[in-house]
Amino acid sequence: IKGQYGKYFAFYDDKLRSRLLHDQAITDGMEQALAENQFQVYLQPKYRIVDGSLAGAEALVRWEHPEWGLQSPANFIPLFESNGFITKMDQYVWEKTCEMLREWEDKGYSAIPVSVNVSRADIYNADLSDILCRIVKKYGLDPSRLHLEITESAYTETPAQIIETVSHLRELGFVIEMDDFGSGYSSLNMLNNMPIDILKLDMKFIQSETAKPVSQGILKFIISLARWMHLSVVAEGVETKEQLERLKEIGCDYVQGYYFAKPMPSMEFDQLLAENTVS
Ligand code: C2E
Ligand code: CA
Ligand code: CA
Ligand code: CA
Repeated sequence: IKGQYGKYFAFYDDKLRSRLLHDQAITDGMEQALAENQFQVYLQPKYRIVDGSLAGAEALVRWEHPEWGLQSPANFIPLFESNGFITKMDQYVWEKTCEMLREWEDKGYSAIPVSVNVSRADIYNADLSDILCRIVKKYGLDPSRLHLEITESAYTETPAQIIETVSHLRELGFVIEMDDFGSGYSSLNMLNNMPIDILKLDMKFIQSETAKPVSQGILKFIISLARWMHLSVVAEGVETKEQLERLKEIGCDYVQGYYFAKPMPSMEFDQLLAENTVS
C-alpha cells in the first residue's frame, strides 16, 4: 500500500511540477513581455447580417513569445487572472486598440467600433472608468468607438457592483456587450434592468449540432426578447453557411466567426478596412 501511495504522488508531483514550471516561466516573462511589446492585438471582423457589411471588430490578444512562438490566450489569460497581471495587460490592449482607431480615423477609414475584453478583475478596479476615459481622450476618440465585452459570469458574481460600474461606463458613452450570453444559469432573470446594449451569444448555441431544433427555438426566443429590450444581438463562432442561414432566418443582427475570418494581425485588418471603406 505504501508503494502505491508513493507512486500516486510521484505521478501527481510530475504533473504539478511541470504545471508550476510553466506558470513560473509565464510569470517571469510577463513584465518584460509588456515592456518589449510582445503582446499583440489581433482583430476579428464582425459583419452586419442583413447586407454583409463590415460592422466592427473584436480585439483579441496574442503573445509573441521569444522562445515559444505565438501563444493563444488560453495559455496565459487564466494565469494573469489569478495573479492580477490581467489588469495591466488589458489596459495595454485597450491603449493599442485606441491607437489603431486613431490611425484609421486619420487615414479616413470607415469609423467602425472595436470591442475589447474587460476581465472581471478590471471591474473591481475603482479606477476603471478613469483609465478608459483617459485612453479615449488621449487618442481623441468618442467613447462609443470602444465596445466593452464583459462576460456573463461576471454579472452573476457581484450584480450590485457590476450594475453600478457598468451604468457609469454607459453614461460616459461606452457601449456595453454582454459576452458569452446563455452560458450561465440565471441569464434571463438577470437581463432585467441590466445596463447593457448588446448581447453576444455564447458560441455553444451556434455550434450545437446535437439539439438543433431546440437550440433554434431558444435562439429565436432570445432574439425576440432582445428586440423587445432594444438590445442588438451578435453571434460568434459562426463557422458554416448553414449556421449563418439559421441566424439570418431568426433575425440576428451581427455575426463573427471563422466562416468569415479568423482573428488577424492589425496590418491585415487595416487592409480589410481599407477595402471596406467607401470613398
Ligand atoms: P472570447 O472573448 O469569448 O473570444 C472569442 C474566442 O472565440 C476567441 O478565441 C476567438 O478567436 C474564437 N473564435 C472566433 N470565431 C470562432 C469560430 O468561428 N470558431 C471557434 N471555434 N472559435 C472562434 P481566443 O482569441 O483564443 O480568445 C479566447 C478567450 O481569451 C476570449 O474568449 C477571452 O475570454 C480571452 N481573451 C482574449 N483576448 C483578451 C484580452 O485582451 N483581454 C482579456 N481579459 N481576455 C481576453
Ligand atoms: Ca469577447
Ligand atoms: Ca469568454
Ligand atoms: Ca465570447
